[in-house]
Amino acid sequence: MSISVKHLKHIYSKNGPFERVALDDITFDIEDGSFVGIIGHTGSGKSTLIQHLNGLLKPDYGSIIINGTDITEQNTDFKKVRSQVGIVFQYPEYQLFEENVYKDIAYGPKNLGFSEAEVKKSVYESIDFVGLDLDVLQKSPFELSGGQKRRVAIAGVLAMNPSVLVLDEPTAGLDPVGKNDLLNRLKLLHETKKVTIILVSHSMEDIAQTVEKVMVMSEGKLVAFDSVANIFSNYEKLLKIGLGIPQITMLFKKLKEQGIDIPSEDVYSVEDAAEIIYNYIKGEKNA
Ligand code: ADP
Ligand code: MG
Repeated sequence: MSISVKHLKHIYSKNGPFERVALDDITFDIEDGSFVGIIGHTGSGKSTLIQHLNGLLKPDYGSIIINGTDITEQNTDFKKVRSQVGIVFQYPEYQLFEENVYKDIAYGPKNLGFSEAEVKKSVYESIDFVGLDLDVLQKSPFELSGGQKRRVAIAGVLAMNPSVLVLDEPTAGLDPVGKNDLLNRLKLLHETKKVTIILVSHSMEDIAQTVEKVMVMSEGKLVAFDSVANIFSNYEKLLKIGLGIPQITMLFKKLKEQGIDIPSEDVYSVEDAAEIIYNYIKGEKNA
């Protein structure tokens, strides 16, 4: 499902004393099946932007075109839009409310009018996809750990079978193991089901290791939208707006500047870095 945003502007508390331009003239196209990251400081407009993608927020100006249909038009079928574009909000576990996990995950697909059998199938599939055992289905969400609750909340959105999945800081507060596991599951979802994924994060490491293209937001503006490699190779621009690049990428740039013969680009994870350094040292010894 393609997304096209044109000249989007959003103003909070318009004409009041606390008026705030949260989004200013945002234009971009996201192709069907892509995996896009959005980075930017707190307050740069990331959450405001994604809430426009399924009509939860209305723009003050501009259009949002989902698969050829402008959802800012009067006659928009928002139920349909929300079944196509699923949003996992920040700390979604606070929105769990049913007496057991099954009911919580089933809530969305039921609302969309899935049959009993379809609901069951999508609950089972999505609980499996987020890496939880079936025995949690009968538990109260409140018996689960924080990480498990997060997964249940994500499963609840996945169960609606959205073509576009948007996640706002889904790894916030997770430990490194839980974080990597979740990111890998999202990659798998993207690869196997061709779901278009939009991942909001303020972690450069998460973004660099996971997505294909990156949007950089700063003070309500979209200041760059490019491949991961192009975004992180132009790191002076990122530094200027107070964002960094992954520490390991920076370390490799510094080593390269010292004359060490290693790649200075496209190294985003400690695992990749370890392999490159290992091979480099092996090469030195053999020379
Ligand atoms: P981010 O997700 O990047 O942290 P937000 O989209 O939450 O950014 O916020 C963008 C700007 O809009 C910030 O200045 C924030 O204070 C303001 N803002 C966000 N939500 C509201 C709201 N409900 N009412 C008024 N201002 C808001
Ligand atoms: Mg936010």
